[in-house]
This record gives sequence, structure tokens and C-alpha cells, in this order.
Amino acid sequence: MFSARMSWLAPWLVEKGFGLTSGSVADLMAASNRFPNGNYPASEEDMRRDFLVHWCHGAPGTLVKAAEVFGEREFLEAGEAAAEVVWNRGLLKQVGICHGISGNAYVSLSLYRATGRNEYLHQAKAFASFLLDRGHKLLSKGEMHGGDSPYSLFEGVGGMAYLFLDMVDPSQARFPGYEL
Ligand SMILES: [Zn+2]
Repeated sequence: MFSARMSWLAPWLVEKGFGLTSGSVADLMAASNRFPNGNYPASEEDMRRDFLVHWCHGAPGTLVKAAEVFGEREFLEAGEAAAEVVWNRGLLKQVGICHGISGNAYVSLSLYRATGRNEYLHQAKAFASFLLDRGHKLLSKGEMHGGDSPYSLFEGVGGMAYLFLDMVDPSQARFPGYEL
């Protein structure tokens, strides 16, 4: 199950070879563990509600990493299906990288790097442009939530600033602490 914990741990386990095989990743992304639209439940305790589209609760980044490590096309295809959900529903009411718009931009950036397809670059630019144009304004008006740690890298404007810096050269963008 691609719960928050798996989303964060799986790529690391995959890359470091701690027993997570391509078969175990395939089991995790089985049709019974995901919604028909490509999204994943937020936790094993709540398999029915399709309600979170966050980096910390989403599979796209994990699947792109699995595709990179194992070289199997089905992981990339599942990552692209989940990224479609992120694009359609990923304009969240927070700015950070853990569960905010900046994190969802990194889904597009990971797929841009993996596929070379410009549509993913355009998606990342759209997320970043929205934040640049409206992020601070909406935060100051209380229309976006500043998070528990409003200046932090993962929840706050620190993550948004990190994304802006990465957008200088999107082909080199890496989700901090995860893809670096
Ligand atoms: Zn989060």
C-alpha cells in the first residue's frame, strides 16, 4: 500500500536494495490497492476514500523511482497514471513540498526527467507560476494554509523557494532529501 510511510520509504528501500524487489513494488501498486483513476488510498486503514493528492500520500514519485531502478515500463506507466490525478487535482491549499503545490510540481519534474516529455515540464511550470503569482497573496489573506511550520522546507515557503530555485534548470530538479 502506498501510504504516506511507503511513499517516503519505498524509493529509499528500492535504491539501497533493502529487500524491496520489483515484484514487491508491483504487489503494492496492484489494481486492488489503487483507484481506477490512478490514485492511491491515503492509508491501509482507509482504503475507500479517494481524497488525498499529496507527495507524502502519493505514489507517482515512488513509481518513477522504481521505474528508474528496475527499468520496468509498468512502473512508469502507473506513475504517469497517478501523475494525471496530480495534474487534475493537485492545486492544493498549501504551498509546501510535503503536501502542497510545490511537492506536486516535483511529480511533474520527476516525470519530465524520466520521459523527456514537454507536457510534464509545462505542468511543473504551471504549478510554479501559480505559486509565484499568487502564493504569498493567498497565504496573507488566509486563503491558503501556511502549515504547522510556515517557513519550513517541507511544509512552508522554504519548499516553495526551493522549487523556484530548481525551476531555473528543471532538468536538474530533485526533490530534496528524496531524489538527491
Ligand atoms: Zn505531507
